[in-house]
Amino acid sequence: MKKIVYADNAATTQLDPDAFEAMKPYLLQEYANPSQPYSIGRRTKKAMEEARAVIAACIGAETDEIYFTSGGTESDNWAIQCGSGSGGILTSEIEHHAVLHSCAACAQKGQIVDYVDPTPDGVITPEAVETQIKEHTKLISVMTANNEIGTIQPISEIADICRKHNVMLHTDAVQAVGHIPLDVRKLGVDLLSASAHKFHGPRGVGFLYIKKGTPIIPFMNGGSQEAGLRAGTQNVPAVVGMAAALQKSSSHVQETMANVRSLETALLEGLTRNGIRYTRNGGNKTLPGLISLSFSGYDGEAILHRSDLLGVILSTGSACDGQRTEISHVLKAIRLEDELARGTIRISLGDLNQEEDVMTIVRTLTKILK
Ligand code: PLP
Repeated sequence: MKKIVYADNAATTQLDPDAFEAMKPYLLQEYANPSQPYSIGRRTKKAMEEARAVIAACIGAETDEIYFTSGGTESDNWAIQCGSGSGGILTSEIEHHAVLHSCAACAQKGQIVDYVDPTPDGVITPEAVETQIKEHTKLISVMTANNEIGTIQPISEIADICRKHNVMLHTDAVQAVGHIPLDVRKLGVDLLSASAHKFHGPRGVGFLYIKKGTPIIPFMNGGSQEAGLRAGTQNVPAVVGMAAALQKSSSHVQETMANVRSLETALLEGLTRNGIRYTRNGGNKTLPGLISLSFSGYDGEAILHRSDLLGVILSTGSACDGQRTEISHVLKAIRLEDELARGTIRISLGDLNQEEDVMTIVRTLTKILK
């Protein structure tokens, strides 16, 4: 089989083999329901609670502030729809649809939703947030890092403003957890969403950090799992795999960041050396390896398909929007010209990429674009 160069790590990542090994016993032998009081149920519960403690330690939270969910989308829906009560929400134009569509659902129920514009670099400035805070604002939601252009947001400064105005802060940290050092106390957020498959954990599992004392009601109703706030039998193997993956990625996050950043530099230098002209989106504070490039006069969709045929996997933006051909809401919000927006691709390198992958990407893009 032809070797494929996978450069769409922002869409999903390969399951880490150690995370898989950690999951195996809970898929095959230790399958008891963790809510059951008998011995084998207590064993799965113990594994689940250990996983919760590991995850909490990785992000500077208390163990009982971590609530397991089915992934980033559920965590975002829960935070927005149940953290806002019936109050107003302030969010940014460049959030993931899991946040934006949750806000739209709240608006349909009569809640007021206000939006903050990003700068052309994709930054949500604390000043812009402060000017948009209204009397009715109860919850602010700003992502930690953008999934299409990689911009890292000044969350702790935004948190200072939220505290000043007595407003709750949620951050969608799905692209950031496991990729950059994060500490919920230093960030000063009340709610934080994460998803395991973005950091080499399994798909279909994630968590919501809920700071102690934060008023929030359940999104999923039913049993009394997750301290009565998120009903449904927990996916113990997935939770165990998520903890193993996060512990591993957190333990070498600095090293990974440095490696991936140097791959990113090599890629951009390679394109420049080959005379490829591009505009990079997202400003100068981006997630390591997340590279949004616009090529004037080209079609991003066509580049994606041609590079796929040549064995290089890229994307045009958010994975969830892979079926759509219209210009992404993020590129529109940063006011990128339509012509450039149409010629935009996202390359997202990860810790499994090697220098030779980068050289293949450069060669492939050069072939397509020349
Ligand atoms: N938020 C962001 C920023 C994302 O990038 C994604 C996935 O691409 C999600 C939320 C949704 O996460 P999940 O796929 O776990 O539902």
